[in-house]
Amino acid sequence: MAGKDLFQELKFRDPVRARALAEAIAREVDAIGRTVPVMHVCGSHEQAIARFGLRAVLPPGLELIMGPGCPVCVTDGPEVDEAVALALQGARVCTYGDMLRLPGTARSLADAQADGAKVEVVYSVSQAVELAQKHPEDEVVFLGSGFETTAVATAAVALASPPKNFSILSVHKYVPAAMNVVAESPQTNIEGYIAAGHAAIITGWGIFEPFAARTGKPVVVAGFEPLDILAAILQLVELMRQGKAEVANVYPRCVTKEGNLPAQRSLWKVFRPVTGTWRGIAEVRDGNLDLRPEYAHLDARKRFRIDTAPVRDEDAEEAAKGCICGSIMLGLANPGDCALFGKTCVPESPVGACMVSSEGQCRIWHTYGGVPDLRKVGT
Ligand code: SF4
Ligand code: SF4
Repeated sequence: MAGKDLFQELKFRDPVRARALAEAIAREVDAIGRTVPVMHVCGSHEQAIARFGLRAVLPPGLELIMGPGCPVCVTDGPEVDEAVALALQGARVCTYGDMLRLPGTARSLADAQADGAKVEVVYSVSQAVELAQKHPEDEVVFLGSGFETTAVATAAVALASPPKNFSILSVHKYVPAAMNVVAESPQTNIEGYIAAGHAAIITGWGIFEPFAARTGKPVVVAGFEPLDILAAILQLVELMRQGKAEVANVYPRCVTKEGNLPAQRSLWKVFRPVTGTWRGIAEVRDGNLDLRPEYAHLDARKRFRIDTAPVRDEDAEEAAKGCICGSIMLGLANPGDCALFGKTCVPESPVGACMVSSEGQCRIWHTYGGVPDLRKVGT
């Protein structure tokens, strides 16, 4: 590892500073005088929290809950059905790895692949464009998933005049909508939110100000190293103790108030927010990013007649099998509350979406053991 990288690593993972932050958090929580539930809405945050055992250093009065933070998990069954139907209708469907095993209402793209359909994993949307150039005889459909971070990359490709046999099936989602869903859920008791630094690099932290004002809850934008997350929690509990519904940014090395304006311009030139159904959560206002009508020529839903009837089976949806992904994504339950966790539902044979994606909470908890023992992670 280069000297500079090693320094960065030590700086953001320093156990002495981590303990000092944890103690400061404990003092704030004590001062608040009751249990404080806070939520983060990012799979990458959950990975860092679980991997570094952060819950083990937090005071018992601080409940750190993961919300709907994984775009793969919230991709709905009927959206997967569209991709499966297109693949079985003869299109070459390309998508990111985690999407392959994500169940539709009955089948996944991996099932379609096993049936001989052309389904390929790509690491970027540009790779999907390369496939379209390499296979002019095929209609290449890119199943575009992910939040605004990846939607920006999809938008850049749409703006760069891709080949005529290339199109996009957008299941991109919009992060601020996820926080609205939780805040508006009647059962929610969340008192503060940690927002995803990656997405905020694009949108800027200012985008959360209306949310904080409307809900009366503070929001803190955080990076992905252990100290970033602990610093965000400290800032959050300080704001809560002071009764301030403000937005703070503890990731200033990457996030500004305005965000990346050229990226935002590309994003909104190509996409528009529309109401869509998120898996396990129902309808989310402005939760999906659809291609604008000007890009209909790139929109697989407009270009092809997608017949999902042969692949759709609502009775087979995982809810019927006891999966509680919806409650987990709303922060109302933990993976351990699901009777299938670690038994019939494991990463090798996932029952629900949260066990499929590397950013899904069930998968992360299964990998790292939920609240890891500090002695095992050596911090
Ligand atoms: S895409 Fe960004 S915001 Fe979404 S889960 Fe990954 S890191 Fe978090
Ligand atoms: S353990 Fe599996 S079945 Fe249970 S909620 Fe998680 S993904 Fe769904």
